[in-house]
Amino acid sequence: MQVGNSTVLSSGTYWGQFEEISKYNTQLNVAERLWAAWYAWMQNDVLATGIMSFVMHEAVYFGRSLPWIFIDTLGLFNRYKIQGNKIPSLREQWDCAKFVLLSHFTVELPQIWLFHPMAQFCGLSTSIPFPTLWTMAYQIAVFFVMEDTWHYFSHRALHWGPLYKAIHKIHHQYSAPFGLAAEYASPIEVMILGFGTVGCPILWCAVTGDLHILTMYIWIVLRLFQAIDAHSGYEFPWSLHHFLPFWAGADHHDLHHEKFIGNYASSFRWWDYVLDTEYTPDALKRRRENKAKVSNKAQ
Ligand SMILES: [Zn+2]
Ligand SMILES: [Zn+2]
Repeated sequence: MQVGNSTVLSSGTYWGQFEEISKYNTQLNVAERLWAAWYAWMQNDVLATGIMSFVMHEAVYFGRSLPWIFIDTLGLFNRYKIQGNKIPSLREQWDCAKFVLLSHFTVELPQIWLFHPMAQFCGLSTSIPFPTLWTMAYQIAVFFVMEDTWHYFSHRALHWGPLYKAIHKIHHQYSAPFGLAAEYASPIEVMILGFGTVGCPILWCAVTGDLHILTMYIWIVLRLFQAIDAHSGYEFPWSLHHFLPFWAGADHHDLHHEKFIGNYASSFRWWDYVLDTEYTPDALKRRRENKAKVSNKAQ
């Protein structure tokens, strides 16, 4: 692998590679050197990206779910629990974790292996230096908007009778969701919804030719945070949607699990608002008033 202006030796330990790279590339920051040393040491980009992606996903998924497990088990924030009478037991969460883990190893792992060749084919960069913070930030904002659109329409389609019974019913096993339940779903659903998470940045890259794999990683981490927090079952006075009114959050998705209808989007509220599928007390009131207006006119 070509790193900066020196070709890295193929032998030695990971830290040996790191030192070698540091010697010749003083302009790189520590994260960039760690990154370059990983690819140089692995000597196999497909494997390097595959392992990094899988480990990152596991660490973030379970790492982010852990605080919610503590909160549920210790009853720390019971007064902020949306469905206060339905606190998941440890047993329930453990069963869910086993299912999710099994699907990660059997369904997700093989797909992650395809990621590097696909990324390379579409021109994703794995090189250093990294893109600027601004570039990463605006691209991630675009991915949030794109993915939310994909999620809204495919999730709404999954609620159509036959598709619901065949695919989406599994995810709705928990009518009072918790963090770990975010990826509790049929493998087909994981593929359909995961296509939005991975496909949107790939599409962006195909059109603009400008995307670094690190931006993609940060996007996936943030999207995982969003999904796990939306399933947490807790609504706090400091939840993000109080500051960003168009942000969906747990308040939005918990009702979807409780009522099985409406609130189909993932990150934002605008699609549900525009297409009148919002399920909130306000939206229900608005719908009732509109209905009353129509029937008054008809009389
Ligand atoms: Zn659903
Ligand atoms: Zn859900």
